[in-house]
Amino acid sequence: MCGIVGYIGEKQAAPLLLEGLEKLEYRGYDSAGIAVEDNSGNIEIMRAKGRLSCLAEKTRCGKALEGCCGIGHTRWATHGEPSECNAHPHFNDGQTIAAVHNGIIENYTELKKKLLKRGYSFYSETDTEVATKLVDYYYEKHGDPVKAIANFTLRVKGSYALAVLFKDYPKQIFAVRKDSPMIIGVTKKEALLASDVPAILKYTKNVYFVENSEIICLEAGKAVFYNLDKEELEKTPVKINWNAESAEKGGYEHFMLKEMHEQPKVVKDTVSYYTDGEKINLNRSGLTGRTIKKIKNITIVACGSAYHAGVVAQYVIEKLARIPVRVELASEFRYREPVADKNCLVIAISQSGETADTLAAVREAKKLGMKTLAIVNVVGSSLARVADGVMYTYAGPEIAVATTKAYSAQLIAEYLLALKFAKVRGTVSAEKYSALLSELNALSGKIESILNNKAEIQRFAAEAANKKTMFFIGRGVDYAACIEGSLKLKEISYIHSEAYAAGELKHGTISLIEDGTLVLGVLMQQELLEKTLSNLVETKSRGAYVAALTYEGMNKAKEIADVQLVVPQTYDVFAASLAVIPLQLFAYYLSVLKGNDVDKPRNLAKSVTVE
Ligand code: GLU
Repeated sequence: MCGIVGYIGEKQAAPLLLEGLEKLEYRGYDSAGIAVEDNSGNIEIMRAKGRLSCLAEKTRCGKALEGCCGIGHTRWATHGEPSECNAHPHFNDGQTIAAVHNGIIENYTELKKKLLKRGYSFYSETDTEVATKLVDYYYEKHGDPVKAIANFTLRVKGSYALAVLFKDYPKQIFAVRKDSPMIIGVTKKEALLASDVPAILKYTKNVYFVENSEIICLEAGKAVFYNLDKEELEKTPVKINWNAESAEKGGYEHFMLKEMHEQPKVVKDTVSYYTDGEKINLNRSGLTGRTIKKIKNITIVACGSAYHAGVVAQYVIEKLARIPVRVELASEFRYREPVADKNCLVIAISQSGETADTLAAVREAKKLGMKTLAIVNVVGSSLARVADGVMYTYAGPEIAVATTKAYSAQLIAEYLLALKFAKVRGTVSAEKYSALLSELNALSGKIESILNNKAEIQRFAAEAANKKTMFFIGRGVDYAACIEGSLKLKEISYIHSEAYAAGELKHGTISLIEDGTLVLGVLMQQELLEKTLSNLVETKSRGAYVAALTYEGMNKAKEIADVQLVVPQTYDVFAASLAVIPLQLFAYYLSVLKGNDVDKPRNLAKSVTVE
């Protein structure tokens, strides 16, 4: 994970590097550091344990470091504890090469042994220091930064986005990547490098996406791309339609709160982009009527909340389009030797499009001859490029580590797919199709109305603040909403919770229910209402404090539940889009009440680019 930045231009680099890192802090935040080439050509490094603010304080907001060329890093430790010593950038022994790295060097132990034998010494526990010294080793051998980096890429195993300063090559930044993201932006007098778009949006919207094993040399106003043979490559930038303000808090206390409030717009934008009256247009997805008819089954691969969105899709696609769907954790799919199936469509879901396991799963599926489709938020990201077809979600930059709006946009993309599949395969009537499509257009307004009536959820959160554990139960799509609600709670409020398919509770887990245990039932699937209500009653009889999340006017739940939260009515298949909003808000308010860092919860990072 972690974020890396690089700046070369006419302005003082350090304050700009800190500003860029601030936009990437969602990627890692246990320590941070910057390296700048000072006015006499020496490389100076400053690092600090803890949040970026500690580094900002130490460097007087960057003013302490002179020079117009530098690199920076905000870390999510994989090798070595979070400490100043392990923080990046790392130096070679002579302090003439400094590097920042995102990823994992898998064979670092072997490489470290080799380098120790050659007289290198090590001061940190990181794989990154090994990487830096390996670059140094090849630089000593070849006397050329591009060749040194090319040799480095041939020798290391693992993933990396690596940016390097060489004292011998002032006013230049060298970089390379494999399986960890890296983008480049060039303006008239500057060149910038970053792990993600928000860090450079202020400077340019034209972004070069670096491919695996491309080596870059940045100079002010210029970026040259090389292949491993040091031959120059032609590259064209991709235009990003986000604006710099969309990556700011805009008056909200937290990014998460702002992003939750953006959901009506995100849902509306994603629906409008793909629909034209009664027509669903999936041109860019590579799915023609013919290919849709040929699909025999679907496998969805994803991680975390995107996986939960996949669970929703499983219910919705099967129900509407009658195609068998299997949802798999991407990290499991890739290692279980999946059976090749040419009629299987593999749908990969990821906000960043850089999720390491999801990317690997898609590569594996392609190797096996399966057709792949990516549902992804970041234009031009690795997943968008690797998959055969892409369906973008129009959520804009998402900064809070706990996803909200990207998840909501993923659901919309799935509904559109399900409806399109159903239409092409003739599994829904024309009337039902129209009704569902018009409801899809109404979802945005319904989400807005939930967001405008938060008081009840806030009160409920205050009541739940001292609970040690919680259960979420539901059936069908409601169950899918439960697993996402439970994850939100764990991620940001640190309260233990479990989500259970309501019918499964009594097969063991009900033994955990005792006096006062909070059980929240999601009851939005009309046909399954009575069943889930009975399950709630079962927990109440064992002392549970019961909350019910239902449609407005659902009086039966009132009789049973201690607390009732309501949302507007919708079709069962779209229920997750409404159910998830109060669950997100609930987790948010609990996190605030407990004084947690809502946007940057402990131990986590967004965009999981390591396995
Ligand atoms: N493996 C490196 C470290 O532990 C980089 C981790 C990251 O991507 O933040 O320092």
